[in-house]
Amino acid sequence: MSAPESSFAKALFFGVVAEELIYPYPRIADEALGATHELVTRVRRFTEAELDSAAVDREARLGPGTLARMRELGLFGLSVPQKLGGSGLSRMAAARVLSELSAADASLGLVAVAHGSIGLSALLSFGSEAQKQRWVPSLSRGEQLSAFALTEEASGTDAGTTRTSAQRTGDGWLLNGVKPWVTNGENADLFVVFARTSRLDEGQKPRLTPFLVELGPGVTVGPRRETLGLRGAGITQVSFRDVRLPADAALGDVGRGFRVAMEVMADARVALSAWLFGQLRALVGWTVNRVQRRHSFGRAIGEFPVLKNKIAKMLADAYAVESMTFLTAGLVDRGVDDTSLESSLTRVAASEALWRAANEAMQIAGGSGYGTSLPLERRLRDARGGLVVDGTNETLRCFIALSGLRGPGERMGGVERAMVEPVKGFGLLRDFALRKVREAIRRERMEHAHPLLSRETVLFEESTEALRRAAERSLRDHGREIAEMQQTLVRIANVVIDLYALSACIARASAAIEQRGESGARREIDLTTMFASAARGRMHANLGRLEHGDDALRKSIASRAYTDGGYPFDVI
Ligand SMILES: Cc1cc2nc3c(=O)[nH]c(=O)nc-3n(C[C@H](O)[C@H](O)[C@H](O)COP(=O)(O)OP(=O)(O)OC[C@H]3O[C@@H](n4cnc5c(N)ncnc54)[C@H](O)[C@@H]3O)c2cc1C
Repeated sequence: MSAPESSFAKALFFGVVAEELIYPYPRIADEALGATHELVTRVRRFTEAELDSAAVDREARLGPGTLARMRELGLFGLSVPQKLGGSGLSRMAAARVLSELSAADASLGLVAVAHGSIGLSALLSFGSEAQKQRWVPSLSRGEQLSAFALTEEASGTDAGTTRTSAQRTGDGWLLNGVKPWVTNGENADLFVVFARTSRLDEGQKPRLTPFLVELGPGVTVGPRRETLGLRGAGITQVSFRDVRLPADAALGDVGRGFRVAMEVMADARVALSAWLFGQLRALVGWTVNRVQRRHSFGRAIGEFPVLKNKIAKMLADAYAVESMTFLTAGLVDRGVDDTSLESSLTRVAASEALWRAANEAMQIAGGSGYGTSLPLERRLRDARGGLVVDGTNETLRCFIALSGLRGPGERMGGVERAMVEPVKGFGLLRDFALRKVREAIRRERMEHAHPLLSRETVLFEESTEALRRAAERSLRDHGREIAEMQQTLVRIANVVIDLYALSACIARASAAIEQRGESGARREIDLTTMFASAARGRMHANLGRLEHGDDALRKSIASRAYTDGGYPFDVI
């Protein structure tokens, strides 16, 4: 039985390198390059000349006319086809534009993502023809804005505890509930609201359904959510009290809302990664500039080896994140239908690289970094939201590992069943045995990688094989309990994140070498080498801890702290 090669990342769990999915590294089509460049330039001119991000943050609102300017630029329907009112860009081009907007201001970037890549995207993917005709043109042109309302006070990660309810009435639905975390809530005209459409039955997973809800009687926007950062993103509570909805307000099949939420968010993570990368690029630029202007002991601080090391790390991180983001966007453009793993792991890597960079930039700015006169503290506050915004990195890691393990798990289950009934399972056992022989004699190769990157490629190939073995061993050791073995899942996810990042860097640097030769691609080669060296250490550590972890010790330390009510010692 072969691996599901429709997902590059899922195939890695089988030890399979589905390189035809990532080679050649995707590019924005030649005929679209000019228009993309033009739009990026217009966004830059707008943000440089008209946007006061310090004021947006201080006043927690976008300046007058900002949404109108974004509308004029076509930023609300970037990848919606032109015939539906959008800008008709590919995902790659849209990601590039979003990253430019987000580099200038993370709040603005999030407004564009929450509308175009979440609210509007839900409608495009799951709406009926009538719903699309009614809403998509005005939403794509930004004449009306959308927001996505899933999280509740007691249910973020655990959407199963959703309290907002929609009850059937004679001719429609009656909606009641409160959504405390709605990005764009302040500006939205249309809300995609997730409500329980089954009875509240403690212990039972509710059936969720998303509804299209217009601003109107019973819908109360506010109060505004006081947040650490992203203060211009219009994050508000939105309450729904006895809101009457027509029968056709449900988005997609009634009761299938979990699937809608999962698919919409998985897709949105491509745009969210571009949002994060834009912020990261801006921080790298700011820091590189700073270390050349600030002097200490008669030298620019950037001349000190310690600072050069920090700058190099930021660059390698940025290169990896950008490569992953645009590779994933390119997969969507190529019509690969399952990119849920790639987009989730890119979003995790991007948010953590951004957080590290924000922290380092602040450190490099010394005491001034801690002050409020530089933009760094705002950038750091904005960056913090990226680790949580669409689900926390911890739960995303568990999702990444569990959905990657599902394929090998099903195959192992099949093999075990086949062993009980060998005649029925003959084909399966034969395939399994053949695969074992094949694995014993050769590892999967990434043959399209450029030979100048052979060390990095071998690291990728060997680590892919190590992941396969680790996945198989973890499934064998823990069986159905694997979902509870969260530290195992986190380590497996960490390895896959590094593998995908490495493959993206190798594929992109290979393309650069082919286009510009070794000396023309020197920067890409060096960044790939540096990223690979750091990834080698991390993957080694994660794989090692799978076998020799001290999880039991850590669990017992935490459990005792719960009993003690905190830190139990004192020196007096
Ligand atoms: C800037 C920003 C914008 C947002 N915009 C929106 C929006 O537009 N629409 C919307 O619906 N929501 C939005 N949210 C809410 C966001 O999606 C949730 O905050 C997020 O999903 C986490 O849920 P929670 O806050 O309830 O945390 P919880 O689920 O309570 O998690 C608390 C902690 O427990 C951990 N945890 C929880 N469950 C598990 C588990 N099973 N295993 C291991 N660890 C676990 C988490 O990792 C976290 O560290 C936004 C949040 C932010 C910060």
